[in-house]
Amino acid sequence: MGHKYVYLFSEGNKEMRGILGGKGANLAEMTVAGMPVPQGFTVSTEACTKYYEDGKVISPEIEGQIKEYLGKMEEICGKKFGDPANPLLVSVRSGSRASMPGMMDTILNLGLNDVVVEGLASFTGNERFAYDSYRRFVQMYSDVVMEMSKSEFEKIIDEMKKSKGVELDTQLDANDLKELVKKFKALYKDKMGNDFPTEPFEQLMGAVTAVFRSWDNPRANVYRRMNDIPYSWGTAVNVQAMVFGNSGDNSGTGVAFTRDPATGERVLFGEYLINAQGEDVVAGIRTPFPIAHLKDQMSAVYDEFATIAQNLENHYKDMQDMEFTIENGKLYMLQTRNGKRTAAAALKIAVDLVDEGMISEDEAVLRVDPKQLDALLHPQFDAAAIKSAKPIGKGLAASPGAACGRTVFTAEDAKEWADKGEKVVLVRLETSPEDIEGMAAAQGILTVRGGMTSHAAVVARGMGTCCVSGCGEIRIDDEAKFFELGGQTIKEGDYISLDGTTGAIYGEAIPTVEATISGNFDRFMQWADSRRTLKVRTNADTPKDAAQAVKYGAEGVGLCRTEHMFFEASRIKAIREMIVSKTKEGREKALAKILPYQQGDFEEMYRVLEGRPMTIRFLDPPLHEFVPTKEEDIVDLAKELSITVEELKTIIEGLHEFNPMMGHRGCRLAVTYPEIAAMQTTAVINAAIAVNKEHPEYKIVPEIMIPLVGEIKELKFVKDIVTETADKLIADAGIDMQYHVGTMIEIPRAALTADEIAKEAEFFSFGTNDLTQMAFGFSRDDAGKFLDAYYENKIYEFDPFAKLDQEGVGKLVQMAADLGRKTRPDIKLGICGEHGGDPSSVEFCHKVGLDYVSCSPFRVPIARLAAAQAALTHGDAIGK
Ligand code: PEP
Ligand code: MG
Repeated sequence: MGHKYVYLFSEGNKEMRGILGGKGANLAEMTVAGMPVPQGFTVSTEACTKYYEDGKVISPEIEGQIKEYLGKMEEICGKKFGDPANPLLVSVRSGSRASMPGMMDTILNLGLNDVVVEGLASFTGNERFAYDSYRRFVQMYSDVVMEMSKSEFEKIIDEMKKSKGVELDTQLDANDLKELVKKFKALYKDKMGNDFPTEPFEQLMGAVTAVFRSWDNPRANVYRRMNDIPYSWGTAVNVQAMVFGNSGDNSGTGVAFTRDPATGERVLFGEYLINAQGEDVVAGIRTPFPIAHLKDQMSAVYDEFATIAQNLENHYKDMQDMEFTIENGKLYMLQTRNGKRTAAAALKIAVDLVDEGMISEDEAVLRVDPKQLDALLHPQFDAAAIKSAKPIGKGLAASPGAACGRTVFTAEDAKEWADKGEKVVLVRLETSPEDIEGMAAAQGILTVRGGMTSHAAVVARGMGTCCVSGCGEIRIDDEAKFFELGGQTIKEGDYISLDGTTGAIYGEAIPTVEATISGNFDRFMQWADSRRTLKVRTNADTPKDAAQAVKYGAEGVGLCRTEHMFFEASRIKAIREMIVSKTKEGREKALAKILPYQQGDFEEMYRVLEGRPMTIRFLDPPLHEFVPTKEEDIVDLAKELSITVEELKTIIEGLHEFNPMMGHRGCRLAVTYPEIAAMQTTAVINAAIAVNKEHPEYKIVPEIMIPLVGEIKELKFVKDIVTETADKLIADAGIDMQYHVGTMIEIPRAALTADEIAKEAEFFSFGTNDLTQMAFGFSRDDAGKFLDAYYENKIYEFDPFAKLDQEGVGKLVQMAADLGRKTRPDIKLGICGEHGGDPSSVEFCHKVGLDYVSCSPFRVPIARLAAAQAALTHGDAIGK
């Protein structure tokens, strides 16, 4: 026998996610546990990979296995595909290894045609139901498999309802639905040029192909990039016997969680619709009942469901998100998976499960996605401002947090406006998976339709974006771009504010303030901290940022970019004076004016850090960044400096560089103007001496970092200035203070010669922003313009400036770490590029054996948790 590509549900288990996808593996697990699961088979992710390898065709071998397993499925179900006397109908759903809700395609009621539908009608004794299923199938198949526009079908339904004088789909009778099917098929023929496929196996192969194809659709590609899911995984396809939630008032369908996904509270949470099929709940077209209501409506079914839900949670030891269908009073489980949840819920559930004795602290630490912590640190409304604000309406509190921004009505506008730096709130009738990029770009999302498990709610919660859904009072005109609510008209560009925790909607801008964290967070983070070996520092240039980061658990400053202190109005004059000076004396005079500011800044930083270490990096950017560009500013500056405008312009022109990022910057500035390094050394050392005097307990040991080094001799040159200046200051003060001089590794040549560099450098800090720029040869400022084309063409799957390219740039990091340790076994190694706050990059840093990562203050908790997870997953680092 060749390779096995297809598995019955009874042949799998939950460990087989890689091959069966999450949905397939869990359906198998539930089947084996004897739960009521409609039976079927899974076409593996390997078949998907093969489909792409073979040039987007399903090989005869795989098609043969699908046919064979369909036969087995018919036997198990006691029904036959295409047999009007006893028809088997199936659903065809995607399911990859990682859950990607709503990203890929689903087709229900497959196997129907003009003959089978009659059989189904007489078999169930319910003609309306049969034709309702049929029209849904034609609609879904045309949309998903043939990629026809949904709106034309909706238009036909709307026309039919209008002519019948009814409002709801459920008010259409069997004859109306029959008529709809006819019209749908005519539309199909008109657009596709041939008849709607009647042969069930042909329909099935079309659907399987469509699911494979949907792995590569734009929204799935964006979702994967946002969630670090590799393209190579592929999706599985689950073919499952249909059960019908739309077969009458004793039937229904719903979605439920074993705990509240917004708060983490331990209650069965969810909603359902009577006489409906799955997509009705998710699409949010009808407003569903809360799950508790089922207890009154069908108490035996509710009890059975509640028991299964608890069993599933006990089995998976995690909060479950389940889909179920009730067919003529009988319960079926269609899916279970670990549920998506808000960050607050994730922490509460992890901590509660430990307290309930279900999982260990180690497991709890591994349960929370580090990126999610971001949401906890997100803004809330300013308490005073919100008191005086009056909501214009209320929707469902779908995803917590506060948002304020300008109103846009399409996902494209959201993205476009956000790219231009606007804060936007996306207002939609309902969202669909195509909207994913716009949703990610928005501060908040407001929808007219949809419950707590609607697309908007689920996706926003996952993103940690504030969302208010299902505000039915809104009258929206998204073509004319305005909506009305509470007597107010909000046009495109108008400010609105949303409270995702209460559901309140405000027709005005309300200022937001930072989040506060407490309770579960501290306890959970203590578990994380006690498990990690990597230290976490922060990139901070101001005492305020440093204080914020310390609050979030930073253990020091890994990068203080000194030039950011130069831009303040009071200082920039002296800086400019230094830049335009033609002589060393002139520069020294200007630098003497800067020195007290710089020293004062460092003193403040040292006070805030209370003895935590701080790496201070010397001046890095090209000097032209500090000089004015506008005519009026140039005239002002010339006056201030008592030189002519012409003279100043000549100086500014002289600073022009064709490629400033590779120009006169970093340690090259100190090589040309050693007095700058001398001044900065004086500021650092004097600040440390002063604060050590105030607080001897801090025992400050200054760390001076020389940027952009590529050659040992240039490091030595600058280091000599530093040590000469520092040693003299320390001797003059009559004290004994240690200090360290190290370098950034951000030029490939420095990584390649790191054994040499380590002879002079007491520490390395990997500047992976520049290292990425120079390793790829991509400008960090311009790469955004062309990277989209690289994603579309699958050349790169992620932005190497956000997530470390482990194969290339990572190899340089690894090599430099190894070479550095060879020369100086106790060399301190850290990272201070943006990657220091990205979980997968933090994991890499752990594996390479760095001592610390350094990231922006808001990402400190993320890095702490990612470091703990890396330690739990990989044990001790290799380099250590
Ligand atoms: C880097 O290059 O990674 C770095 C931290 O320095 P900057 O971003 O200031 O160039
Ligand atoms: Mg740099």
